[in-house]
Amino acid sequence: MQHSRYVILAALTLNVAVSAQQAPIGYDDTPMQPNNTWRVHDGKRPYPAIVTTAPPGDRPAGHPSDAIVLVGQGNDLSAWQMTDGSAATWTMSDGVLLTGKGVLQTRQQFTDFQLHVEFATPSDVKGDSQGRGNSGVFLLGKFEIQVLDSYRNITYPDGQAAAMYGQYPPLVNVSRGPGEWQSYDIIFTAPRFAADSSVAKPAIVTVLHNGVVVHHATAFWGPTRHKSVLPYTPDMASGPIALQDHGNPVRYRNIWIRTLRGYDEAGR
Ligand code: MG
Repeated sequence: MQHSRYVILAALTLNVAVSAQQAPIGYDDTPMQPNNTWRVHDGKRPYPAIVTTAPPGDRPAGHPSDAIVLVGQGNDLSAWQMTDGSAATWTMSDGVLLTGKGVLQTRQQFTDFQLHVEFATPSDVKGDSQGRGNSGVFLLGKFEIQVLDSYRNITYPDGQAAAMYGQYPPLVNVSRGPGEWQSYDIIFTAPRFAADSSVAKPAIVTVLHNGVVVHHATAFWGPTRHKSVLPYTPDMASGPIALQDHGNPVRYRNIWIRTLRGYDEAGR
């Protein structure tokens, strides 16, 4: 008797927990993902396991000698502009860039690269789900690696921190707490197109979040956008690195990029 009462109580508790978690999270009316059994932003998709790593140092690590420094130690924003080509309006102080109004993107266009980004979501926690520490790193301006406060913040798995937004959740959740510096190391190859504009090779990405692999040579099936499955178009063969303004004050520092060349092409 006593035993069955506990079972019922446990089942009720679990039910409450599950429904509280699922009610506002994700969508059930979005398109099905290609090569997948999930909808875009599917709230029923499993949550990645949580992994912790050693805390970061106080200062950012340096950059390799052949890197193009996009955000360095000073307050130089000359590598960046707004999407309409006007001067960058986000603010920088002591090597720390704070998100502002509008998307910020590099002046330079890229194809294949290794990109290092450090970011911190607000230590003053506000909002929940997609409204907590939301920004993003847009590869070629089209393919978003999500920036979000995913420390004890449930959202749809393909929209949490380090997700290939709307496509794949990270393999594991390596998010540090609000206000703590975190890193992405992103190795990316741009899509290739045949003469008839068909996709010869999709965009492929490997991502390390705080030093832990969260995507490994995974193909984007197209550009990323909220609630959407979109096709490739040949204009996506190259593009800038862009940082998203999602209305939350996210900080960035120590951003550098290395153009990747083929074997035996280093000296050209
Ligand atoms: Mg975002």
